[in-house]
Amino acid sequence: MKPVILDNPDAGVDLHLHTSASDGSNSPEEVVNLAADNNVSIIAITDHDTMVAVPRAIAQGKQRGLSVIPGIEISASYNSESVHILGLGIKKVNNGFRETLKKIHDGRLTRNPRIVQNLNIAGMDLTLKDVQDCAGGDIIGRPHIAQAMLNKGYVETTDQAFKQYLIRGAKAYVERYRPDVLKATTLIREAGGIPVLAHPGLMKYENFSVLKNHIQSLKKLGIEALETHYPCHSPTVFSILSQFAREFDLLETGGSDFHGIHKPNRIGLGCDFEKIPFSFARPFLERLGKLISRQEIKTDHVHCK
Ligand code: AMP
Ligand code: ZN
Ligand code: FE
Ligand code: FE
Repeated sequence: MKPVILDNPDAGVDLHLHTSASDGSNSPEEVVNLAADNNVSIIAITDHDTMVAVPRAIAQGKQRGLSVIPGIEISASYNSESVHILGLGIKKVNNGFRETLKKIHDGRLTRNPRIVQNLNIAGMDLTLKDVQDCAGGDIIGRPHIAQAMLNKGYVETTDQAFKQYLIRGAKAYVERYRPDVLKATTLIREAGGIPVLAHPGLMKYENFSVLKNHIQSLKKLGIEALETHYPCHSPTVFSILSQFAREFDLLETGGSDFHGIHKPNRIGLGCDFEKIPFSFARPFLERLGKLISRQEIKTDHVHCK
């Protein structure tokens, strides 16, 4: 095994990764191995609504000389839309955090059968069991439903499943509980983490001035950083978001949003499918107190249950 040298200027970072604990297709160990094999030396595990994969990823990270930041991704409601918030560097969650996660999990449990029911009405012979069989953990989401539809031959791609049936406004879509942004950022901060606005370029906006207003409002609601370096951001969007980050004194992060087979994104690659260099994330990591030395890796341990 090749140990990753953290002060290696060629090392990369990836602060947005999903495992099979939510809707990624790879185990925590596989995600860490893929990162290490791709010369990515600092990663954040950011499963939707759960941190159960973090201890396994940290253990594997120690084997591979790679530092793992405990994280989470929460869908929050903002102006009746959904925005995704990453909590990076979570240290210890309190009861309020746990209760909110339970409410989100319960929301999924009531929503998923309703989506399946809508698909049945649309003529598909699909059961909740078919969907559960596509999931590796407790968090069952739309990507698993899309995968079940694909497996049964009702769609040719999961993308088609989303576009025709699963996105907001499509015929099988059903809402689920989401905390508001202030609640999500407050819980993340109370847990010792930094609230990051994930993929801001995917928000709905008519022009950059509207996007700028959104960023300003979201900062007031507790967002401290923008995930500017992201595969679906064009170089123009990346540059505009970096400008907004400077203007509003927000930090910048970068992540691939890797999901394995459920998304084509590749570990360690952000905007324009270019590597996210360590130097790019340095200010953020410094703020997180995670500017990493070899010594720190050996002693690094986090409470995340
Ligand atoms: P859920 O949390 O169950 O509502 O599902 C949200 C997940 O579905 C997100 O993590 C995305 O990765 C995925 N997703 C949302 N929209 C799309 C889309 N248009 N195509 C593919 N995946 C999507
Ligand atoms: Zn996902
Ligand atoms: Fe997201
Ligand atoms: Fe994500």
